Amino acid sequence: MEKVLKKEIEINVVPHIHDEVNLDFRHVQTALNRGYSKPFLLVDSSIIRNKIRRFRAAMPRVNPHYAVKANPDLHVLKTLIEEGAGFEIASISELNILLNLEVPAEEIYYSNPIKSRAYLEYAASKGVEWYVLDSVEELRKIISVKPDAKSYLRIDVPNVGSDWPLAGKFGAHLTEIKEIIAEAVHLDANLVGVTFHVGSQCRNPQNWQTGIEQAKKVLTDMLRAGLKPSLLNIGGGYPVVYTKPIPSIETIGDIVNQALADLPADIRVMAEPGRYLVSDAAYFICRVVGTATRNGKRWMYWDAGIFGGVIEVTEGLRYRIFTDRKGRDIPWTVAGPTCDSVDILMRDEMLPEDIQEGDFIYIPNAGAYTTAYASNFNGFPLPEIIVL
Ligand SMILES: *Cc1c(COP(=O)(O)O)cnc(C)c1O
Repeated sequence: MEKVLKKEIEINVVPHIHDEVNLDFRHVQTALNRGYSKPFLLVDSSIIRNKIRRFRAAMPRVNPHYAVKANPDLHVLKTLIEEGAGFEIASISELNILLNLEVPAEEIYYSNPIKSRAYLEYAASKGVEWYVLDSVEELRKIISVKPDAKSYLRIDVPNVGSDWPLAGKFGAHLTEIKEIIAEAVHLDANLVGVTFHVGSQCRNPQNWQTGIEQAKKVLTDMLRAGLKPSLLNIGGGYPVVYTKPIPSIETIGDIVNQALADLPADIRVMAEPGRYLVSDAAYFICRVVGTATRNGKRWMYWDAGIFGGVIEVTEGLRYRIFTDRKGRDIPWTVAGPTCDSVDILMRDEMLPEDIQEGDFIYIPNAGAYTTAYASNFNGFPLPEIIVL
């Protein structure tokens, strides 16, 4: 208990809680009335529209570029294109999806800090202008492929209070930042921006303030070194409602706007929201294929598990789970349909005792990082995506 309290204080949980946004459950019933053959994600595109508008209203100076990996469905992308979003990609297959949808290459930011030479060559040939880097090696690689590339430097910032801390895998530290800036000057490279990522599902808005303050210092260092900085990219991480309270986007916006107040007007600001734009727009629906008692404990098996899209539970995410049953809650172990022993979603999850084979499972706020992760492992079908 004491540990929990300390953690809550550390991450400075703010009183303004994000209002819940949900797809109207009647849409789920309508979809099921047409029959059920495999797990599906039901997405309401009007919620995506509302969320990007709300994001923009909360941070008027910040131009959102959707992180395609959160949900690369074509209808989802088309909705965001209609709303005027830009995009952030990690691979050329994400690039091709966007080019096929006629997204201008200059609206696409290649934000994966380590890119293969072949991918860089392809992206450059298609007109992508902006590339992230966080090492001197990547700077040299980018310049050798595309000498006039515009690049932005990913720096390491605190990920305190994020459900998926990323710190460590990417992001340059102080001494490396100096080296990279010096090498950019030496190579006459267009290193003109700074970016950071506070960690996914970041419930601590202070992280953006710290990130922006650090980024502003690096922009100043760039200017002093003779570079011409023009971009601040404040990354992704904006949280959505699952089971824990989160700060609203307006609360985060207040902090971001304040931190941006003294940023020179000639520095353009963008962000890379993924989860925030799509999670609330969807319900994930799957079905119980069987139940069993093992060593006195109740087990249920769904037709979608770790490999079927419900994978973030392995990193500690807790979804709310609804069924049509009214029985008292008892602890269940929930597993996926495959024969791999890692395919266990939850242990001691409190769910109605009368759940049976054939029951539907309804998971709200599941539009991000679900279907995007699914595989055909063990012969089970990929979940379908239905966009309203
Ligand atoms: C995944 C990713 C994002 C999106 O993160 P969310 O937590 O979904 O907002 C943004 N930028 C980069 C570089 C990413 O890798």
